[in-house]
Order: sequence, then structure tokens, then C-alpha cells
Amino acid sequence: MRRIWGIALSAVVSVGLAGCQRSGESAGDPAAASGRPGAAANVTAERLLNAASEPSQWMTYGGTYDEQRYSRLTQINRDNVKQLGLAWFADYDTNLQQTGTPLYIDGVIYVSTAWSKVYAFDARTGKQLWQYNPKVPGEWAVKVCCGLVNRGIAAWNGKIYVGTLDGRLVAIDAKTGKEAWAKRVIDPNYRYSFTVAPRVVKGKVLLGPSGGEFGVRGYIAAYDAETGEEVWRFYTVPGNPADGFENEALKKAAATWGGEWWKLGGGGTVWDAIVYDSVNDLLFFGTGNGTPWNQRDRDPTGGDNLYLASIIAVEPDTGEYVWHYQTTPADTWDYDATSPMMLANVVLDGKERRVLMQPSKNGFFYMLDPATGELLRATAFTEVNWADGVDMKTGRPRVRKEARYSEGKPFNGLPGAQGAHGWHGNAFDPETGLLYIPTQHAYFPWVEDPKYAPSDVGFNLGIDFAAQFTYYQKNPKAPKDFVGFLQAWDPVAGKTVWRGEINEGPTGGALATAGGLVFQGGGRSQEFRAYDARTGEKLWSMQAQTGVLAPPISYEVDGKQYIAVSVGGNQTQGYYAPNYSRLLVFTLGGTAQLPPPKEYTERPLQPPPATAPAAVVEAGRARYSQYCAACHGENGQTRGATFPDLTRTPLLHTQEGFDQVVLKGVLEEKGMVSFAHALKPEDTQAIRAFIIARANELKSSMPAGGAAAPPPPRDAHQDPGR
Ligand code: CA
Repeated sequence: MRRIWGIALSAVVSVGLAGCQRSGESAGDPAAASGRPGAAANVTAERLLNAASEPSQWMTYGGTYDEQRYSRLTQINRDNVKQLGLAWFADYDTNLQQTGTPLYIDGVIYVSTAWSKVYAFDARTGKQLWQYNPKVPGEWAVKVCCGLVNRGIAAWNGKIYVGTLDGRLVAIDAKTGKEAWAKRVIDPNYRYSFTVAPRVVKGKVLLGPSGGEFGVRGYIAAYDAETGEEVWRFYTVPGNPADGFENEALKKAAATWGGEWWKLGGGGTVWDAIVYDSVNDLLFFGTGNGTPWNQRDRDPTGGDNLYLASIIAVEPDTGEYVWHYQTTPADTWDYDATSPMMLANVVLDGKERRVLMQPSKNGFFYMLDPATGELLRATAFTEVNWADGVDMKTGRPRVRKEARYSEGKPFNGLPGAQGAHGWHGNAFDPETGLLYIPTQHAYFPWVEDPKYAPSDVGFNLGIDFAAQFTYYQKNPKAPKDFVGFLQAWDPVAGKTVWRGEINEGPTGGALATAGGLVFQGGGRSQEFRAYDARTGEKLWSMQAQTGVLAPPISYEVDGKQYIAVSVGGNQTQGYYAPNYSRLLVFTLGGTAQLPPPKEYTERPLQPPPATAPAAVVEAGRARYSQYCAACHGENGQTRGATFPDLTRTPLLHTQEGFDQVVLKGVLEEKGMVSFAHALKPEDTQAIRAFIIARANELKSSMPAGGAAAPPPPRDAHQDPGR
């Protein structure tokens, strides 16, 4: 059955491609030939609905509404991919992490970067056409959990849409790069931010804000694409019952909550997956963790806490609830159900079915009937230790008792808060029937914080965040990997077919192509690769000089197929190292060369002597964990690319200099605001003493002479949270 369906589909595909391979004059894809006909970003409802019939284009985040990240172009294929070379590259003006999926429309490539900036380039030559900078205030950085990233943009009717870190929805004139309009659509009294790629459905821009680690009420909203007026909003968690409920679905949800969750907002942010199903005319999205992470601090009654960690379907015109499936009831592990989802046709029990699929952060792969939410598959796609499978009758995970860590009973969870699969785009190849999942294998020690109290500065987690360091110090034999790899997953059989190389830290998003290839970045290995989609054989790779995490796209112009990917960040050498954030664009026979990397010597580890009493260091550790670890890492030297390594900062040498930054805010423009409202001088003295103690520990653990680099940073929460 599957074979029949595969042949039928490939027949359709090859009709569309016959012309593209010559000059792009395929009847089904006129834009391939003309490059830039008429208006810029001339994206209509018709074109979006039929995006698969214009394989030269990449008009929406996941390629088409089905979000399969599958290119139907075949010019670059497994026989000739070894001839792939750089056609052009363009430098970005930010050295932070790049996670954006570019769009390609009629000769122009649009891409967002860190700090919510957007570029347009001539897709043939790489000539910059414009840059739009929303000028997000630097101090907004403390309201963003996991890097100042932007994952993508949407195009519609001559405009490019971006959600900014400071909560604006901006419509940019696609021709000029000028702001058409911008609206602050979040409530600035809460620590909301946008990192999600908007989608446009029937003239409405859809997006949801992040902020679940701080304490916000999650929602997704639809805005009129022409005016920015809010058309509807669906809150994912109930508010204060005393205020009444917005709808029946939230009234029902409130019955699954206890305590006073609404005081911190509840969480459940819609920070990544948004999928429009044009067949069922439904909109799907995933929701994030609750605030705080630790359920006992959120809801001491232990209810399911709907609709946290859930996949939800609503009516796209009204936002009215249709169905939900909760992947992790009573979540207490940051198991957001926000990982990218897609729609596909698969053959189940001899029958072709349209399904909705998500390899989730919690380590389980879910397959649902998009029309009803019926659970069709729930299989661990990687090693998990928090649950023994999913009960297919109830749809609930069989949670291991020890996984619900309580005071004095830590749990070394797998997957950890990093997740088995984060925001990194999956790809699905209808020819192989395989799903290509950027997978993470990462432990995280869940240690309850008995002294937790809600705070309007830093994270609200209810766990001891510093335990990422102290737990493994106390339990040196406990497993603590954090590695990533691409895996090809048979969604019907529930089996891994192949795995790519294993690299430190998170791995990159994927693109599958009808040329029988999967393109994917190897994270911190800095390698950009093409795999044989069927066998996993690595057929081609190049060194990008920087981390490769964002998903690639493919497009065609003037009869030539290109592969484009945003690179940058995820360094091993830290914040001050050159990061080479760029857009790289490849084609067959491309001969462009990256300039050689600059010489760089890491700042020396030269802390002042550790003289503070142990009690002061411990007090400093506690405050550091509460206020600093969210950005600077749990032991003062993590979070490589996004934030400075504090064990190497010259500011350690004087309290006055340290306080200029921490209490006076002299680096506010760079994102380091004053913490004077939360910290007193004795607190910053203790924090400095803790970092000095850590730096001295690290220095003494280095080989004599200090020539060798310290162990690679373990940025445990760099990617997953939002
Ligand atoms: Ca989260």
C-alpha cells in the first residue's frame, strides 16, 4: 500500500519538476523562470494553499502549510551533491545565535536574525536589498529566557511580518524594507516576548508570545494582516476564576487546576509549532510548560493543568476550541508540547490517512488524527526515563514514581529540560516515508527548591537551577550527556532507521528534498551536511566556521536550485569569539569562498584569589542561581555563545567595577540591566565571591601551564525553554 501511494505521489511531483530542471519554465511553477515578477512578496491565499505546486518557492516557514520542510526540487540530488559549492554568502550585523528559517519569494530571499532584525537579499547574487531593524531596547534581554533569537517571518500581500522580542508585531513593506506598521500587541507589564515565526492564514497573522519560564499567561492570537487589529485570542490556561472564564474550554480547564496559579499567569505559551490544516480547516498549535516548572509550586493539588503541554486545535476564523491532546499531564519537567509539528499522509493498517505528527520535547513521538485529535501513535523516539510508554487507551504517559522529584529526592531526568527535540525543524520525505528528527540526548537533574518564592526578576522555576552543576558534583557517576544527532524515524513502524553523527550540544534543523537528500547542520561541530535520505550516508559537508542550528530551505531561480541556511552561534569558544553569523547559499558548482577565520585567543582565566568565607560563597551561589544563571549558566562559565563567561571577566577584579554593571546598569544597551531593585551590595559581593571561587576551582582543574582549554561549556538550557 505504501509503495502504491509513494509512486502515485512521485508521479505528481515529477510532472511539476520536469520543466524546473531545464529552465524553470514548468507550467505549474511560472515564478521559477521569471524570478521577480511584479510586486515583492506577492503571496496570496491561493499561492499559500498551492505552495507544493510552486517548488521553486519557499513562501512560508515550513515550506507549505503542511510544514513538512520538504523541497520538491531535484536538480541537486544524491548523485551530484558532491559538486555542491557556495554560490554566495552575506554577513549579518549580529554575532548572536541564528535560528531563522529564510523565505524565498520570486527572486528575493528574506531572513530574520537575532534581535528580530530582517534582511532581504537578491537570491541570485546575494546583494542586500534592505535591512529592517526594529531597534529592540537592549534591556529587554532580561525578559527573554533562551537567547535573543528569532525563528522566522511570514509573507503576505507585499509585506513581511516579524514578531519582535519586545512584543511588537511589525509589517514591513517587502519592496522597500520600510515599516508599514508596527503594533505593541503584548501587555508590557508581563515578561512576554516573540521568538516564534508568524504564520498567515486567510488574511490573519497568527503568533503567540514566549515567557513561560518567567510567569505569563500563554495564548495565541490572530491579527488582521492589513491593520494589525486583533481578531481573536485563545488563552491556553484559565485566568482567575473570580473574573469568570473567556470560554467553555477554559471553564473545563479550570477544573484541572488547584491553588492560585493565575498569580504567575500559569504558563502554557505558544512559542513554536503553529500548523494550518487546509483540508480540515483547523489550526493546531502546541503549548509550553507551566509556571513554575515544579508543579507543587504551581498547583499543590497535582491536577492535570489543562491546557499546558498540549496540542490544541481551534477554528482559524474564530479561535474557538475544537479538540486537545495533552502530551504531559501535570507537567513538572518543562516538557513543552511546542516542538515543530507537521501534517502528512501515511498508510496505517493498509489505509492512507492524513495525520498530524510531533516528536515532542518529552521524548515521545505522537501521531494524531487532525480532524478529531484521536491518538494513533505514541512511541518513544529516543531513550526516556521519566515514563514507561503511553497508555493508548487513556493517552496518558505511565509516569515513573521517582520522576516526580520531591524535596530531598532529586531525579536525573532523560530527556532533561533541554528536551529530546526542541524548536529545530523536522523534515518529512513523502518518498521515503521517513521523518527526520533533530534529536537531543540530554540529562537534567530535577532538584526541588524548598525555598522557592515567586520573583519578578529571573526565572520562576521552583527548582534548584544550580543543581545542574552541584548535583553532578555530588553524584559524579550520574550520567550527564548533552548530545544531539539527526535521526530518520519511521513514523508508522515507530522505529529508528538511521542516525547521523553525534555532536556535543543541540543539533540543527532539517530539510528533506526530492533529490533524495536531507540537509542538516551539526550544531557546535560547525558542519553543514547532506545525508542520503534512505541510508543516512553522509554525502557532502562543509565547515561553516560557526554553529549551524537553523533549518535550511531550498529554492530555484533561473533554472538553478539553491540551498540556503542561516548560520551563527553555538560556539565552543564563548561570547567574545568571532561567530560569523551569515546566510550561506549553495548551488551545484558554486565557487565562492568564505574568508579565512580570524585569529582568536580566548580570554585568560585569571581570577583574583578566592578569599571569601564559605558561607558567603554559598549565599552567592543561591543568589547567582536565582538571578544570574538563567543567562550566564549554572556555574558561571556556561552558555558559550549567547552570554559572556563570567569566570573570565576582568570585572571580577574589583567590586566597584562589578557593581557598575550589576547595580548601575552601565551595560544596559547590551542587555545587562541593573539588578539594583532585586540585589543589595552585600548580595553582589556574595555573587562575585561565588564566581571567583568557581573560577579558581576551574583554574586549579586545568592542566599545569594552563595551556589546555577548559572542558567545553555545557549550556544545558541554551535552546529549549522559551
Ligand atoms: Ca519551556
